[in-house]
Amino acid sequence: MDRAFTFTVGDLAADEALRLPCLCGARIYRRDELVALVGADARLHLIGLRRELWCSSCGEPPFEGQVVPVGANGRS
Ligand SMILES: [Zn+2]
Repeated sequence: MDRAFTFTVGDLAADEALRLPCLCGARIYRRDELVALVGADARLHLIGLRRELWCSSCGEPPFEGQVVPVGANGRS
């Protein structure tokens, strides 16, 4: 089962990040960035509904997020 279904931002480990794919690519948000944007109690499986995280390039809400290790896609 996908852990993102029940996890909140606050449940992410310090070395985990959330990958949010959209029409033009994907962005990676670290735990501290998500806490600042949507708060620690935001559920990860609903996080695509948060306008704060919508893509500024294509204007589309992200698809379902995936939990990934920090450092994936070159960000750390
Ligand atoms: Zn986009």
